[in-house]
Amino acid sequence: MTTAPILRSVADLRAMVRGWKAKGETVGVVPTMGALHDGHLSLARAARRDCARVITTIFVNPKQFNNPEDLKKYPRTEEADAALLATVPVDVIFAPPPEEVYPEGFVTTVSVGGVSEPLEGRMRPGHFDGVATVVTKLFGMSMADRGYFGQKDWQQLQVVQRLVRDLNLPVEIVGCETIREADGLAMSSRNRQLTPEGRLKAPVLYAAITRAADDIRAGHADRMAIREAAEAIRAAGFDRVEYIELRDAGTLMPSSDVTRPRRMLAAAWLDGVRLIDNIPV
Ligand code: AMP
Repeated sequence: MTTAPILRSVADLRAMVRGWKAKGETVGVVPTMGALHDGHLSLARAARRDCARVITTIFVNPKQFNNPEDLKKYPRTEEADAALLATVPVDVIFAPPPEEVYPEGFVTTVSVGGVSEPLEGRMRPGHFDGVATVVTKLFGMSMADRGYFGQKDWQQLQVVQRLVRDLNLPVEIVGCETIREADGLAMSSRNRQLTPEGRLKAPVLYAAITRAADDIRAGHADRMAIREAAEAIRAAGFDRVEYIELRDAGTLMPSSDVTRPRRMLAAAWLDGVRLIDNIPV
């Protein structure tokens, strides 16, 4: 199988996309930080179905890491990523070096209010500014018609949707379902940082919030169901539960309004690795 060309510069990417657009072809972009797994590939496959041309970007964005240690140990597996993308296949991989994305003199930040403030925004100051800035840049660089994002990062998906609406960016956002391992663990590049013992405990995060959501639907009190989920996660050997919250699915504000879609979102630490997950309630 031939792997897609890997472009490193914005000028090369633009030249390629201009050629496609001149022929009237629709362009989809799938932004990733690499260390690809089936979750990422499901986004690329969705783009492949909808668009004549598919770009996957691989860029470990330093601006969205609030912890330098986390940035340093983030997995980088470009060759394996290119081989996986060849199975989709995608048309091009855009993997720029940091100085191509943030050249000297770069001073602009895109900051989304409201939806980016609670939960991940509170726990990871600056994280969503980094995401919003790089996503805006990737849309500008790629001139894509559609952008593909995973529900795995539910809050991020809401932030990107808000950003596109607020700035009138000419790109349609497509949110794709969370892909899970057979035992329920949401696929994540961070899962490979778990110890073998940690990997066995990790599915409890999903199991516990699923149980809580079922209990709430069956009429149990929100607070009680959430407390039981947190206890189950701690009892399984997680180091810490950062949050489990039931929120309005769109605004991410606290919500007891059962007539509107709600989402349960959780973050917890296991083996020094921060895992997040979310489900509809
Ligand atoms: P990342 O490389 O972690 O920044 O993720 C890149 C994109 O893949 C984001 O839109 C994520 O939401 C999405 N993604 C990551 N894991 C999954 C998964 N398990 N299922 C679906 N989408 C995912």
